[in-house]
Amino acid sequence: MKNIVVQKFGGTSLGSIERIKAVAKTIKKTSLNEFPIIVVSAMSGETDKLINLAKDISDDPAERELDALLSTGEKVSAALLAMTLQSLGLKAKSFSAAQISMRTTSNHSKAKIIDINIDTIQASIDEACIPVITGFQGINDVGDVTTLGRGGSDTTAVAIAASIKAERCDIYTDVDGIYTTDPNLVPEAKKLRSITTEEMLELSGQGAKVMQVRAMEFANRYDVPIRVLSSFKEGEGTLITKEISSMEQPIITGIAMQDNQTKFTLHGVEDTPGNASGILGPIGDAGIDVDVIVQNVSVSGKTDFTFTIENSDAKKAQKILESDLIKVNYDKLIVNNEIGKVSIVGVGMRSQSGVASIAFKTLAENNINIQMISTSEIKITLVISLKDMNLAVKSLHKAFNL
Ligand code: ASP
Ligand code: MG
Repeated sequence: MKNIVVQKFGGTSLGSIERIKAVAKTIKKTSLNEFPIIVVSAMSGETDKLINLAKDISDDPAERELDALLSTGEKVSAALLAMTLQSLGLKAKSFSAAQISMRTTSNHSKAKIIDINIDTIQASIDEACIPVITGFQGINDVGDVTTLGRGGSDTTAVAIAASIKAERCDIYTDVDGIYTTDPNLVPEAKKLRSITTEEMLELSGQGAKVMQVRAMEFANRYDVPIRVLSSFKEGEGTLITKEISSMEQPIITGIAMQDNQTKFTLHGVEDTPGNASGILGPIGDAGIDVDVIVQNVSVSGKTDFTFTIENSDAKKAQKILESDLIKVNYDKLIVNNEIGKVSIVGVGMRSQSGVASIAFKTLAENNINIQMISTSEIKITLVISLKDMNLAVKSLHKAFNL
């Protein structure tokens, strides 16, 4: 019995019939030594095209229909790839999320995977027939199609790898691995041979776009080793795995950044028990994720309460903060979307002190003001002015010898 590997191919990897043929050859090669289960994205540009078609009809199309529409992109690429594999003499079959019972929550456009019935996939494996499965989608309780959010095929792939207990999940994409930071911004960025799942989870959560953060949550929870590699050029890619020998482990592994953030400050908040929950409760209830949170020391019973969220949720959040859902009294709401977030990540921080002071000193030397700081065991996040973000990433990358 061959080892089972899940292989996910992204949109650019499947961007044309030529590309689909090249992917089929890669799969054929894999199938000599391992048994591949394939997950596909829509052909590149296809999801955007479908969104634009819907927007031509309405600014606010019905969520159920939008998901029904968007899910077709992956169906096209799955069927085309299955045909191509067959033309190479391999046994292959395409499957939609419904066909493999990929059950999700009901919230359209950001549904979460609940479970997968692996019987259909297992039956296909038993027949030595390569399953080609649509990424990015599932079905809810009433059988309607849902989608998992942009980039969601990564999550499909890792979830399938976890449930079938695959040896590994290969994510084929248009970059050749994970870099110390975005190489488009910092040309000196280096490709990593390996990175821990924990670190990649933090980097994805803080803006690294290579892997969807939810995919990393699955990988972390179910201990799925992931290899990120290019479908355009040969190479080892980057291995994302639980343990890395400490010899190879630098203190800082990577730097991520986010330019899509809004900072809300409630000025002159009454400092009473329950004020944080009074403010963030209604925000959370609306499904808005809050990231960095700072509450100042109070002066004569009043304090400032500041937090960041993604720009896409800013309007919704502002409406809530200005409504009477917020039972907390405050003097003034200050909204600032000219901010950026830079995060330094590395498991080495656990055993090494002084990382924060190097970061602060580096920004000071570059005359960059830090507006907010938040830390976890393996991460330091700095909120700064948007205009300083590129300089901050470049100088930190250099300061930590990445
Ligand atoms: N096709 C979807 C998107 O463009 C899902 C994916 O590519 O992972 O976001
Ligand atoms: Mg992607």
